[in-house]
Amino acid sequence: MTSVDLAGRVALVTGATSGIGAATAALLAERGAHVLVAGRDAARGAHVVAAIRTRGGKADFVAADLRTADSVRQLAREATGLGGGHVDILVNNAGIYPLGPTERASRSDVDTVYDVNVKAPFYLVAELAPEMAERGRGAIVNVSTQAAQKGMAGAALYGSSKAALDQLTRSWVAEYGPRGVRVNTVSPGPTRTQGTAAMGDDLDALAAEAPAGRPAEPEEIAEAIAYLAGDSASFVQGALLAVDGGRTAI
Ligand code: NAP
Repeated sequence: MTSVDLAGRVALVTGATSGIGAATAALLAERGAHVLVAGRDAARGAHVVAAIRTRGGKADFVAADLRTADSVRQLAREATGLGGGHVDILVNNAGIYPLGPTERASRSDVDTVYDVNVKAPFYLVAELAPEMAERGRGAIVNVSTQAAQKGMAGAALYGSSKAALDQLTRSWVAEYGPRGVRVNTVSPGPTRTQGTAAMGDDLDALAAEAPAGRPAEPEEIAEAIAYLAGDSASFVQGALLAVDGGRTAI
């Protein structure tokens, strides 16, 4: 029997039009949450929403470009409206991961990676966490990467942005944890998504470095996110849950 432990909860998932975010949206909806599917691509968003509704779940698409603070704030407002005045679960999943030598990153590359990977979660939490704290309950899951913990050539920009997100998790535990808001991190290893399709064999080569020896499927990451978002994790705060096939353990 499918657990419906998230019945009545409103969950905002960023980057839910693709990959890990889409799998997370589907799983949270299966567990009873009203899922707000955020992304820029309305066609992909409609597809994710339709799949959830076909299975009897509740979902709506909210369009937002996370590169600007105004648009992030607008997303928070729209999500709160669609959620009937509140958001109970925030999954900061949207992320971009351009890889390459440090000297080849343009100023705009650096700005965009930090806008989407660091500032957008920051502003979303600024908008949504105070209301969660006022209600005395909420769950925030930040989606990081193994590249935030390991020195990887070509991942300085991406890894550093996600390391900032890891630190935001710890800071927000101190800030909002005492008022009932749990904040945690899921740190995936290489995962087969629309975004990593372009990596071709490089994804498998990267995955081969881990004991599991293969890339993850998005659903395997979604399970960890859903766990941290739900009441089964009621005493878990500030965890960094590595879902990386063992890569960061060795
Ligand atoms: P993906 O398939 O590349 O999809 C990225 C998602 O982020 C899409 O839904 C996209 O939505 C959204 N997005 C990108 N730029 C955006 C912007 N400016 N405004 C709003 N939304 C934006 O992603 P993924 O591979 O599933 O990765 C998801 C998360 O996991 C990321 O944070 C990534 O860093 C992390 N991660 C992934 C892997 C992996 O191997 N896949 C490994 C470790 C960590 P639209 O296109 O609709 O805007």
